[in-house]
Amino acid sequence: MGVEREAPVIFVEDLHMYYGRFHAVDGLSFRVERGEIYALLGPNGAGKTTTVEILEGHRRRTSGEVTVLGHDPWRGGRRLRERVGIVLQSGGFDADLSVGEMVRVYAGLYAHPRDVGDTIDQVGLGGKQRARVRTLSGGQLRRLGLALALIGDPELIFLDEPTTGFDPSARRSAWEMIGRLRDLGKTVVLTSHYLDEVQELADRVGVLSAGTLIAESTPTELGGRDLAETVISFRLPDRAGDLPRGPWTEPEAHGDLVTVRTDHPTRALFALTSWVMGHGEELRALTVARPSLEDVYLQLTEETRSARTGSVRDAK
Ligand code: ATP
Repeated sequence: MGVEREAPVIFVEDLHMYYGRFHAVDGLSFRVERGEIYALLGPNGAGKTTTVEILEGHRRRTSGEVTVLGHDPWRGGRRLRERVGIVLQSGGFDADLSVGEMVRVYAGLYAHPRDVGDTIDQVGLGGKQRARVRTLSGGQLRRLGLALALIGDPELIFLDEPTTGFDPSARRSAWEMIGRLRDLGKTVVLTSHYLDEVQELADRVGVLSAGTLIAESTPTELGGRDLAETVISFRLPDRAGDLPRGPWTEPEAHGDLVTVRTDHPTRALFALTSWVMGHGEELRALTVARPSLEDVYLQLTEETRSARTGSVRDAK
């Protein structure tokens, strides 16, 4: 007898969405398991918002199988909506209510809401309970949106670019809060253009381009990042002579810096430091780096774009 696998919180199979004749989502398949933070990445126009709106039940798909917490989101109705948290865009707020009143109104819509004061504190609006919504700054409005998404204590939360417009310290607090959702066993679908945010928060990343998934993995492994070469860069010491041979590629000069690439960073660093120390010198301006998530993401989306424009040109 096999081990029974829990049904995924989100299941998408061969999803298509046409706007008129425009094919915005083109055969998309992915799943999100319970307790995961899943990030959807992709350039402007890739189809992220369309996909999220279909999952939220706000948009009717053209074709394909989609289930959210076991229900078709288009037909799910109120019982499904109660289990899902959605961040409102600022247009959905009542500007004349205070922050506390607005959150209380939303709390009244759910059978088992979270505590109003705690939720407001957690999004960092503790000092603004009595402030009218119309007086909030852009970043504070987004925090209010987050509070409203969380007040019903949902199992699944959609966060569409949750920290756009936040100052750096507000972003850190939002990350901590989203991290706490993970600790509570919630499932989160996140879209973001901030790669550091995705690196910090996501368990898995799906990269969308022109409505299809071009890569999917953990942030650490995306595009073979964990297997990529290490780049070592330093200033060539004055009195150590030429760089000796070692377990690295042909050195490249960038201004007064030398860069080498290696699959054996420990051996390479040992050889380099032994060489300079043998000459009583230092490896100044030393950096040891792996490709960042942003490097890999840009490479993946650029490759796909070139392949596509290449094929369009070939077809002409
Ligand atoms: P961004 O990062 O800019 O938010 P996105 O990945 O969320 O982009 P979508 O908003 O899903 O992209 O849009 C995907 C494509 O579908 C785009 O080319 C967009 O112009 C088109 N599109 C989106 N909504 C509509 C609509 N209501 N009618 C016609 N075309 C649309």
